Amino acid sequence: MIPYGRQDISQNDIDAVIDVLKSDFLTQGPMVPRFEKVVAEHVGASHALAVNSATSALHIACLALGIGKGDWLWTTPITFVASANCGLYCGAKVDFVDIDSRSYNICPESLERKLNQAELDGKLPKVVVVVHLCGQPCDMFAIRALSKRFRFSIIEDASHAIGGKYRDEFIGAGRYSDITVFSFHPVKIITTAEGGMALTNSDLLAEKMSLYRSHGITRDPALMIGEPDGSWYYQQIELGYNYRMTELQAALGISQMDRLDHFVSCRHQIADRYNELLKVLPITLPWQHSDSYSGLHLYVIRLKLNAINKTHKEVFEELRALGIGVNLHYIPVHTQPYYQKMGFKVGDFPNAESYYTEAISLPMYPLLTLEQQRDVVLALAKAIESDVVWG
Ligand SMILES: *Cc1c(COP(=O)(O)O)cnc(C)c1O
Repeated sequence: MIPYGRQDISQNDIDAVIDVLKSDFLTQGPMVPRFEKVVAEHVGASHALAVNSATSALHIACLALGIGKGDWLWTTPITFVASANCGLYCGAKVDFVDIDSRSYNICPESLERKLNQAELDGKLPKVVVVVHLCGQPCDMFAIRALSKRFRFSIIEDASHAIGGKYRDEFIGAGRYSDITVFSFHPVKIITTAEGGMALTNSDLLAEKMSLYRSHGITRDPALMIGEPDGSWYYQQIELGYNYRMTELQAALGISQMDRLDHFVSCRHQIADRYNELLKVLPITLPWQHSDSYSGLHLYVIRLKLNAINKTHKEVFEELRALGIGVNLHYIPVHTQPYYQKMGFKVGDFPNAESYYTEAISLPMYPLLTLEQQRDVVLALAKAIESDVVWG
């Protein structure tokens, strides 16, 4: 089976992890701060906090932004459940904004309409989590303008987007948001096995996230209530968690960062080839915004079902049967049973639901060979009974 995504681990990556295993520190050593510095400097952010997953990063981001009981968090229905669950962890309520049918990202016009209504109802969101789906940046300029007008904070869930750019700045630079989150799960652009990071340009948000990452404990006398008892002393001043990243993971992350630009450019080469080969098929190819450079975590096509004699499910299953590990990103979050129990219904977000009935993620990762890509293209042509010319 050709998977839809997979990691690329080099000998340098392996050596970096082995060196840590032979060193004094498996956790809480020099590698985590070094990894944070490498990523922060690369993307142009003031602070970066490495954690054990993007899910944890989303959680501490929400906590730092002060969202809690009685507050609303809004996000897109076309995302991994973690982008919404982080609001629920904090006791907040979650709602969704439909996607733009071209970019598949949160639609700024729908967001504005919903904000206008929420203002009348006294239910404006405290936080909006935007997701750069497939690595394609959201319309951050428009969303930032709305956040100033309606006073909400923005978290960029950039789990798909490290290495991508919006208006000539790397995703993570944070010009249009309060906090940006990356994921380093093996299918993502760079990996630390499990792992994530939260980036911000705010000293205060960084300090808060740092507390929430590690039990709410500080060793900084400036943050303590009263004087420290002695050099052993620490204080718990918040209720935090253990969301720390290990030294092994950080060393892998530092080593992977050496190839970030290479990984993203490989993804662009693969996408360009797909774009060229697939353009004759009755499918919609991914749209690219002219003012951004996608991280291209995913390559999602949409079937034009009225031009195909099969259902979406039949095409999907046939591709799997042909050894192509296609996937579907994502099942609209509001249709999950857990969210249905909260009152969301099928029909609430029509663009998201219509996307779900047509979307297929094709294999996309740097190690995908030309031959494998040919197999994917031929299998897809076969599955939708269309002719395609390879070569
Ligand atoms: C992968 C992913 C996450 C969760 O990342 P983890 O590191 O696995 O916790 C969150 N949001 C999106 C959009 C993702 O793709």
